[in-house]
Amino acid sequence: MDKYNIIKKLSSALAIIFIMATLTFCQDWRPVLTEKWEPVPPKVTPGEGTLPPSDAIILFHGNDLSSWESTRGGGPAPWKIEDDGSFTIIPGSGDIQTKQSFGDVQLHIEWRAPFEVVGDGQDHGNSGVYLQKKYEIQVLDCYTNKTYVNGQTASIYKQYAPLVNACKPTGEWQSYDIIFMAPRFNEDGSLFAPATLTLLHNGVLVQNHVTLQGPTEYIGLPEYKAHDLKQPLMLQNHANPVSFRNIWVREL
Ligand code: MG
Repeated sequence: MDKYNIIKKLSSALAIIFIMATLTFCQDWRPVLTEKWEPVPPKVTPGEGTLPPSDAIILFHGNDLSSWESTRGGGPAPWKIEDDGSFTIIPGSGDIQTKQSFGDVQLHIEWRAPFEVVGDGQDHGNSGVYLQKKYEIQVLDCYTNKTYVNGQTASIYKQYAPLVNACKPTGEWQSYDIIFMAPRFNEDGSLFAPATLTLLHNGVLVQNHVTLQGPTEYIGLPEYKAHDLKQPLMLQNHANPVSFRNIWVREL
């Protein structure tokens, strides 16, 4: 290599080093550039024990079913309030629903299958938490009881089996923590966005942001039909004396 070529290559290398050094120097690496200060999230005092978070709407906390009504033409919720701060389904009295309607929610609810369960399969402490009166999370005692998996405890009934069986023994209190995003519909009634649901059963993730196929159907396949964004919550009367307590909801 002659002298001229050596100088030429050195010049090119120096030019590249100079350009890269300049780029690095000009880049602003200050952490503040990626910090965001607005809007400030509102303060919420977390719940403690059976107390809900400070911004929750209490649907039942001890002895008052006034947030609920019968689905049979309205009127007081016909289920039995117990001395222990819970209430129990009276078989044959029909379902109950909230007076208030909800769209996207975080919902906490505790339930207990009866100590003495008479039936088996789908009659083993059956009830249901119906989001928007249409989308059922199954309530059932499946600690040892067997049934079809997309109808067992914490299933999205006939759509999704739970990821695991997190049941407590028969007769113990259990909890559901639900994050539900309501479906959206176009003006012509077609589906814009399906509902999604996440569920923790006794603190264990059992439904992980699943996409609902439509309203719960006992027979046949689900199919969405347009409805208002907000609908009541409903609890199912499946003729088994299941109890509930400590129910609260946060609108999202
Ligand atoms: Mg049910």
